[in-house]
Amino acid sequence: MAATVPAPRLIDTDEPSSELLLGPDERAIRDAVRQVCAEHVAPHAARADEKGEFPAAQMTALADAGLAALLTPAAYGGAGASVVAYAAAMEEVTRACGSTSTVYMTQMHCAHPLELAGTEEQKARCLPALASCAVYGALCVSEPEAGSDVAAMRTVARRDGESYVLDGSKTFITTGDRADVLVVFATVDRAAGRDGITAFLVEGTPEGMRRGAPMHKMGLRGSTTAELYFDDCRIPVSAVLGAARDGYALSMESVVRSRISAAAQGVGHAVGAYAAAVSWATARGLLGPARRDAQRVQFRLADIRSRIAAARTLLLVTARLVDERPQDAVTDVSLAKLRCTTLGVDVAAECVDLLGEEGDLARWGVERRLRDSKVAEIYDGTSEVQRMIIARDVRRRGEAMGCP
Ligand SMILES: Cc1cc2nc3c(=O)[nH]c(=O)nc-3n(C[C@H](O)[C@H](O)[C@H](O)COP(=O)(O)OP(=O)(O)OC[C@H]3O[C@@H](n4cnc5c(N)ncnc54)[C@H](O)[C@@H]3O)c2cc1C
Repeated sequence: MAATVPAPRLIDTDEPSSELLLGPDERAIRDAVRQVCAEHVAPHAARADEKGEFPAAQMTALADAGLAALLTPAAYGGAGASVVAYAAAMEEVTRACGSTSTVYMTQMHCAHPLELAGTEEQKARCLPALASCAVYGALCVSEPEAGSDVAAMRTVARRDGESYVLDGSKTFITTGDRADVLVVFATVDRAAGRDGITAFLVEGTPEGMRRGAPMHKMGLRGSTTAELYFDDCRIPVSAVLGAARDGYALSMESVVRSRISAAAQGVGHAVGAYAAAVSWATARGLLGPARRDAQRVQFRLADIRSRIAAARTLLLVTARLVDERPQDAVTDVSLAKLRCTTLGVDVAAECVDLLGEEGDLARWGVERRLRDSKVAEIYDGTSEVQRMIIARDVRRRGEAMGCP
């Protein structure tokens, strides 16, 4: 018989050990995000999924509280917070709603290359608008024939006087159906591979740019994903972000932060699934002090909790490394992305299993977690790509020890 679903209540999933990794300002930001999410985000998560409803009101609530652009400097309307605070916040937003977290992180993924390479004018025009969610942003790298292998991109930018002319297409672009600030990567020289890649700031929908309809996806259904087509699309030379041919280095610099987003989503999905399983066990009376007979369920929850605690610690320590020594963080970020996104899928699947037939029902939200968590293993570099990066470092260390 199905148990009654209790009124939504925030199960305490904090651990004193990981709390130690947050400074007072970082904890205050995390707690503020948690509060906004409890009021304005979590209550709408099931509907956003069921109806494929874009979480605009949820994003506005975060922006109104000054929490939508944590990493953007205060001078451009952001909070100027640390990557540690951002990672803790992303865990909270994801726990509340996977779709909202995907839009939330994409605002940062778009803003970050602008912060790194934009002119003062580009930054002043676009960053405050992104921070207030007056506009949405998108980061446009992937193409039908260039996913993991970014250097294989075919979207060409041809110089013509004071313009560049874009031709090609981008695929699987988060918020691509509605973003008005788009960081688009294209090549000015296909033969040059990664050395031809250039980043452009595309604003609005210039003539020659067309947007596909949102794709119907397995999960994250409130977050839209669309194709973009460029056909003789003329943009001014001033739209170049940084310098021509510097795009690959810019994307590699940006990816260190965007992989932290995906890793935090992994932890957030795991926490969300775990909290739902605790609610379910509570509703069934399986957690009472006298329920020794429920030890099987309690042990599985204990095991999941210990894995979440380990992954969260790895996430926050890696985020601290990104704050303090981003140039040294590439392999560590891959370790965290691989471990945390795998955790998200594993814990979601285990919680579906733990709830038995009720795990298959939408009401507990664990089946949604399973659908939502999977793509974090794919975007921002698949798990295989993370293994390639880690293996490169394994080889380097082997060579340093004189391995033949
Ligand atoms: C929901 C969603 C949102 C997304 N949002 C964005 C976005 O906002 N902007 C954007 O630019 N992109 C976005 N993407 C695209 C995403 O970044 C790509 O899907 C990802 O980079 C993988 O590329 P691919 O799908 O072409 O797979 P492929 O690169 O074709 O890989 C297919 C399979 O082969 C494996 N593989 C590839 N190369 C190797 C190798 N050398 N060795 C071993 N195995 C390998 C991969 O791990 C994978 O399992 C999004 C994708 C999804 C699903």
